[in-house]
Amino acid sequence: MWRKRRRRKPLTCPQMKSPLRLIMKSLMQRRRVRPDWLPELEGMDWFCLTCGCLLSEDDSVSGEHCSHEVTDVDKAYEQIKEKLSDWISELQGRSENIEDLVSELELAYNSVEDQCVETEAAMQAQNEEMMALVMEQYNNMSVSMEEEKKAKLEQLYDQIVSFQENIDSAKATLETTTREAETDARVSSEMK
Ligand SMILES: [Zn+2]
Repeated sequence: MWRKRRRRKPLTCPQMKSPLRLIMKSLMQRRRVRPDWLPELEGMDWFCLTCGCLLSEDDSVSGEHCSHEVTDVDKAYEQIKEKLSDWISELQGRSENIEDLVSELELAYNSVEDQCVETEAAMQAQNEEMMALVMEQYNNMSVSMEEEKKAKLEQLYDQIVSFQENIDSAKATLETTTREAETDARVSSEMK
């Protein structure tokens, strides 16, 4: 994701106005092509490094370029070629630095990723441990609640039984008393 590249800007020589590509093209054209093939280049043996253009001998001494750095085509070609190879070396160095940086970033990313995986596993284990503990506590609690419930039910049952016994005994006492009262009444009426 960090491999997004910026649009490449055309290489421009700091001392010259035209992009280097165009300067090199015109210089190479001048060197390789015989003047009779391109008659307009005939006599263009000079080069203004300040403006980045080919000049005829007359142009090279004209007022327009008198304060500029003017040299013959072959020297200009060598000079610019040297400059370009310096730039290329510098760019290669920078590119290596960037590659190193990318490797470092990749290493850092991988190490963070590994750490995440480890942390996730540790958290998962902790979670499972906690879950087991909670389940154990829940089971213990439900067993003790069940026992308590059973004891209370037994107590209640005993109370009901004792209450029933009290009612039965009160009923028996009442019946006895009624019977005695009836007997007493009968005896006293017979005695009259
Ligand atoms: Zn010039």
